[in-house]
Amino acid sequence: MKLPETGWSRDQILATLATMRSHDLATEGGAAFAYIYDSGEREAIALATEAYRMFLGANGLDPTAFPSLLRMENEVVGFCAAHLGGGAGAAGSFTSGGTESLILAVKTARDWARVHRPEVAMPEMVVPVSAHAALHKAAHYLGVKVVATASDPVTFKADVAAIRAAITDNTILLVASAASYAQGVIDPIAEIGAIAHERGLLFHVDACIGGFLLPYLRRLGEPVPAFDLSVPGVSSISMDLHKYGYAPKGASVILYRDKALRRHQIYACAGWTGYAVVNATVQSTKSGGPIAAAWTLLHAIGDAGYLELARKTLEATRKIVAGVREIAGLRLLGEPAMSLLAFTAEDPLVFTIADAMKTRGWLVQPQLKGLGAPTSLHLTISAGHLAVVDRFLADLRAAVAEAREAAADPGLTMLLQAAAGLDFATLGDEGFTQALALAGVKNGELPERMAGINGLLDALPAAAREAALIAFVNDLYVAHVGDQSSK
Ligand SMILES: *Cc1c(COP(=O)(O)O)cnc(C)c1O
Repeated sequence: MKLPETGWSRDQILATLATMRSHDLATEGGAAFAYIYDSGEREAIALATEAYRMFLGANGLDPTAFPSLLRMENEVVGFCAAHLGGGAGAAGSFTSGGTESLILAVKTARDWARVHRPEVAMPEMVVPVSAHAALHKAAHYLGVKVVATASDPVTFKADVAAIRAAITDNTILLVASAASYAQGVIDPIAEIGAIAHERGLLFHVDACIGGFLLPYLRRLGEPVPAFDLSVPGVSSISMDLHKYGYAPKGASVILYRDKALRRHQIYACAGWTGYAVVNATVQSTKSGGPIAAAWTLLHAIGDAGYLELARKTLEATRKIVAGVREIAGLRLLGEPAMSLLAFTAEDPLVFTIADAMKTRGWLVQPQLKGLGAPTSLHLTISAGHLAVVDRFLADLRAAVAEAREAAADPGLTMLLQAAAGLDFATLGDEGFTQALALAGVKNGELPERMAGINGLLDALPAAAREAALIAFVNDLYVAHVGDQSSK
């Protein structure tokens, strides 16, 4: 774009923004079963939005200049620590999201090891394949080697014996999930904690998605095993407030059993000519909006409110689990421990079902096969879904029936045959762009029906999948330079 000669009018800007927004996924109304966590609490959301706006310009870079942000962070982190079994000495930080919390957990472990295990030159972390990709990203950014371990192909829980066997002299960190995102199951945290304790290793529990909700589900009588800082051996835990805390996006916490460990998270720099830099988290300049909004939402909804949201989420989940079990041809993966589930269908129906749901106005999330899990569709269920469950299940039944009729798509068959003939090792970015074009991706624009591209990705080995996705995104973000206007 080019800057307008003179500023646009308020009307022109708002109309343009509204038009752009109208093509987005709806964030209210329960259409989305990924990306969106809808509490349905309109008043609390409006209040949090107001708080966000009020603190948007405040800068968390310097907590002494903005004591309001420091106070809100200490209060929110204090609540979170108590919610997750932290003792009086627990410490933590507010972060921008689960990924940042996990990057910090890995950074802390790496730097703890540099001090306490100086003999380790090439640090390793043991990561079950059901753990979130953000842990791989953290390891990649920080130069820590991932040693992947299997998860059980039936329960999808981390295999404790495999974790034990994967530990070497270079292991600095164990990780497990409560719950895992993909299949929504809780790893054997107590058993893994016992290994960490016995071997003197740090152990991070990724409770990004489960941390907020699980204690409420336990209060509702669900059999939730101990998974938090109260478990011996657990040294850190992450919890996203922008998931089941229903806070506006940009809100997560990373918690440690004590300050001595959290110390390794903090970065300071006096090696330049400017102001003294000290950052507890990845960001330096950081908006006060997210912490103010999270603080506000926690106060507006309150404990009884969150218990009620958990009850609604549980009821919606039970109905959907029962509904999926009743549809012939669908199979649930594992036993969902909270409000996340994945189901598979006979090949090659899975992606066609996702497309058929999309034409009915629903977003369900395809998950590619591999590492012991079949191709599946994932659902993240939140309180706001309770109102739409019956319509969702009726549409799912119709979508499965429609996908059956459409089962043998000749275009897809041809595409997969063409893909089978490609040598991905030598393809290069150009080649991937051409392969994606065969699946209907042009100039970063996706086709209406995604079964082709999903089928193609599903058929590729992991390394080729990653290369294809990188080529896609590298084509997607094309700077609109000068007069060339945006689409
Ligand atoms: C969502 C999620 C993450 C990543 O969080 P972001 O907020 O998307 O960065 C990590 N782990 C688990 C288990 C998650 O569900």
